[in-house]
Amino acid sequence: MEGLKNKHVLVTGASSGIGQAIALRFAREGCNVAINYRSDRKGAEQTLKSARPGRHVIIQADVSREEDVTRMFAEALSAFSRLDILINNAGIQKPSPSEDLDAADYDRVLDVNLRGPFLCSREAIRHFLSRPGGGVILNNSSVHQIIPKPKYLSYSITKGGLDNLTRTLALEYAGRGIRVNAVGPGAVITPINNAWIHDPKAKAEVESHIPMGRAASAGEIASVFAFLASDEASYITGQTLYACGGLTLYPEFRTAWSSGE
Ligand code: NAD
Repeated sequence: MEGLKNKHVLVTGASSGIGQAIALRFAREGCNVAINYRSDRKGAEQTLKSARPGRHVIIQADVSREEDVTRMFAEALSAFSRLDILINNAGIQKPSPSEDLDAADYDRVLDVNLRGPFLCSREAIRHFLSRPGGGVILNNSSVHQIIPKPKYLSYSITKGGLDNLTRTLALEYAGRGIRVNAVGPGAVITPINNAWIHDPKAKAEVESHIPMGRAASAGEIASVFAFLASDEASYITGQTLYACGGLTLYPEFRTAWSSGE
């Protein structure tokens, strides 16, 4: 992709799943990658080992903690001396019927999925504004940015909130060389979906709801991040690009049931 070579990228939650695939893809594009992890150091080391070519670092930080985020940016900048791209990928979900939803679980999901991207974006923007050249921020949202997800209230709220985080920051900094966009994946084969990806029956049930008939690989989602970060997307800001196999197309309308045909 145009314009990615020699860029410096920070990917949060890069020890597994989509974040790991993004780190590997950006390394293949010629970027140097700061691989953030919270507790899975082994996973981060695996990402580091597989990332080729480039000069990469791993940085421990909980994105929901302000002091961790400040330290993470300081470490990334001392390793690379500049950052060009921030990928807010880290995210969690805690399912529960909403009437039983524990307030601490609700808070934790908001802290990781929304406070994290705010804290990281703020640090990235401060750095981007401190030197010439602008920068790119990409958020890993979800189809649940627009599709309600019963029993995942806090998750749905955070992904809806990411839309406004993306659009507001995009508007605020459009005139100062900073582009802010999001990717909205559908169902992807990653550890967040351990509940069904290893069970062929459960997987077939999930995939029966997807118009393209299958879940995505993490690499297919990483490609969208590479495009949006590259100069090939130089005129795109404030958008969410859904990579969801058609899930956002109201699949229930595949047949003309509503017209009685
Ligand atoms: P995953 O569980 O493999 O990845 C989540 C990553 O976030 C993990 O590496 C985890 O360690 C990290 N993380 C969690 N809390 C953190 C914290 N406080 N600080 C730093 N890192 C933290 O699952 P994934 O599917 O790769 O999820 C990545 C992102 O993709 C999430 O934001 C998720 O909402 C989004 N997403 C996933 C799917 C899917 O079907 N897999 C669909 C839509 C959106």
